[in-house]
Amino acid sequence: MNDTRGALLGPAEIRDLAGRLGVRPTKTLGQNFVHDGGTVRKIVRAADVRAGERVVEIGPGLGSLTLGLLEAGASVVAVEIDPVLARQLPTTVAAHVPDLGDRLEVVGADALDVTSLPGDAPTALVANLPYNVAVPVLLTFLERFDSLERVLVMVQAEVADRLAAPPGSRTYGVPSVKAAWYASARRAGTVGRAVFWPVPNVDSALVALDRREPPTTTATREQVFAVVDAAFAQRRKMLRSALAGIAGSSAASAAALEAAGVDPQARGETLDVVAFARIAEHLPTVTGGRTSPRAAGGRPGTVDA
Ligand code: SAM
Repeated sequence: MNDTRGALLGPAEIRDLAGRLGVRPTKTLGQNFVHDGGTVRKIVRAADVRAGERVVEIGPGLGSLTLGLLEAGASVVAVEIDPVLARQLPTTVAAHVPDLGDRLEVVGADALDVTSLPGDAPTALVANLPYNVAVPVLLTFLERFDSLERVLVMVQAEVADRLAAPPGSRTYGVPSVKAAWYASARRAGTVGRAVFWPVPNVDSALVALDRREPPTTTATREQVFAVVDAAFAQRRKMLRSALAGIAGSSAASAAALEAAGVDPQARGETLDVVAFARIAEHLPTVTGGRTSPRAAGGRPGTVDA
């Protein structure tokens, strides 16, 4: 499992580096560092990174994946919230791949606050995402950076299932529909717990997303997302009741659903993003989507899951 070839970080080095920096991985920041070169190469392969491609990485941590991306020929802009890790990254890269140091730019910031990136526009997002903010970060980047054509992220296995779930499946929900607005998503592999330090108490999986055009609709994304949020806030309810609040009454929501060609007795979990867009078009009282803070400790202007 350990990779001692080439430029990548192994378990001893991860611990040594963390020790020297005084880094104690925190759950709050989802700090589980990959110490297995095979896993890094698996992610890079699944991401189909092309030589010369501009990649944005969220949460580079100690640099495990960053080195793999650079090794594959990418130029990387890495966004890291932890100032100690952000400061160290160029030094780690210079030590491991001295010739590739000029292909790295580091942004020390909370990814949810990043509205612009230095250098060329990235065409791919590749990351081992911090699990507690994985979905908001993913959706926010798809919204803000329309240059992104492809995404390959490692997330909690349960979240991977939700992102890739089709309508009607048990795990289909808000993240599935919102991701489907931007892209088609599929599971792209699983990752064992032993490749991380510290070992997380959840399983992980890879999700690949390919950008596509959003549904053709006169409704805005915010309007469609407001309908999605309302439909799943009361998942077990029929849409007529679930959308009564945003429609003004259940009679108004039933009328809008019928006009959209959707059975008012259906549940949100059976509808695809195109149907949600049609409903939004017929709900004139939907007034813009949520730009609400995250559930806990969030801030305005981000796309919630
Ligand atoms: N990419 C590294 C790896 O694979 O070993 C580290 C991945 S670790 C799961 C998540 C990383 O995201 C940590 O380095 C953490 O400090 C960083 N992070 C957490 N929240 C963040 C945020 N809101 N914006 C940017 N980085 C964040």
